[in-house]
Amino acid sequence: MKESEIRPRKLFEKYLNLAKKDAESFDNSNFETINCVSCESALVKLKYKKDGFKYSICESCGTLFCNPRPSLKTLNSFYKNSSSAKFWFEEFLPKVEENRREKIFKKKAIQLFNLISEKKIPISNLCDVGAGSGVFLEELQKIKEDISYFAIEPGELSSSIITDKGFSVLQKSVEYSEEWNNKFDFVVSLEVLEHVNKPVDFVKSINNLLKKDGYCLITTLGYEGFDILTLGENSNSISPPHHLNFPSLKGFELLFKRAGFSEVDVLTPGVLDVDIVLNSGRITEFIKVLKSRGDSVVREFQEFLIKNRLSSHVWVFAKK
Ligand SMILES: [Zn+2]
Repeated sequence: MKESEIRPRKLFEKYLNLAKKDAESFDNSNFETINCVSCESALVKLKYKKDGFKYSICESCGTLFCNPRPSLKTLNSFYKNSSSAKFWFEEFLPKVEENRREKIFKKKAIQLFNLISEKKIPISNLCDVGAGSGVFLEELQKIKEDISYFAIEPGELSSSIITDKGFSVLQKSVEYSEEWNNKFDFVVSLEVLEHVNKPVDFVKSINNLLKKDGYCLITTLGYEGFDILTLGENSNSISPPHHLNFPSLKGFELLFKRAGFSEVDVLTPGVLDVDIVLNSGRITEFIKVLKSRGDSVVREFQEFLIKNRLSSHVWVFAKK
């Protein structure tokens, strides 16, 4: 997979420009200063400044996080009203939906069921938290029909699309979804954790949805990935106030244990790190030489990153 297949360059640049403008005009008068989002340590120091926002790094666990950060209320209104969020949900995602289905969701669905059968997890139902327009649920259902599928999705338009596809939907944020507590064998949440105001509350809410011994899979961004470590504050992933949380491997473990999970596995099956650096216009000497050695060397390098948990695309697989 190439970055351009899921983020066509022109469309993505338009989004990044809108996001930059939104960030720079953001009202920061009621920002909240916080401790590390993963381990709660107060030992943090300023790491990056970008578009009027600051990111701290935790000296205890190595997590990068936006600090100070917008309140929950401000963030919610940002996701409803800002031009970049509107562009993302109304123009960007619909245009790339089918490509994302083919390149991302189909593959993830297969990988997820492989993991479930490897671990011999009994599963009768599954809930997708932040399900968007339900594409992942559709792909899961194509593979395994004899499971009940559910969605929690706060967006009004998205919820109605999911309902029309025949899935049961709770139109709420997961933090307010108590009525579905202790209901599920498995909960998934793709690319939501990086956006949330309070990661520990988000992960706790997912834990609450699970039955005893249930599992979750959360995919998100991590700090200790090749593209982010190479590009630093110039990484497009460090995009305030959309992306707020970038835990380290240790940070993910501490965060999920703190939220009540008993077993936590962190994997980084991302395939785009090298391609992202190559597309960034900030090619380092190392990447230049790597590229000159040919496609198979680039591919093997990306495989090395996956194997050694050095990609910024993270899967957290955890047991309640
Ligand atoms: Zn920490």
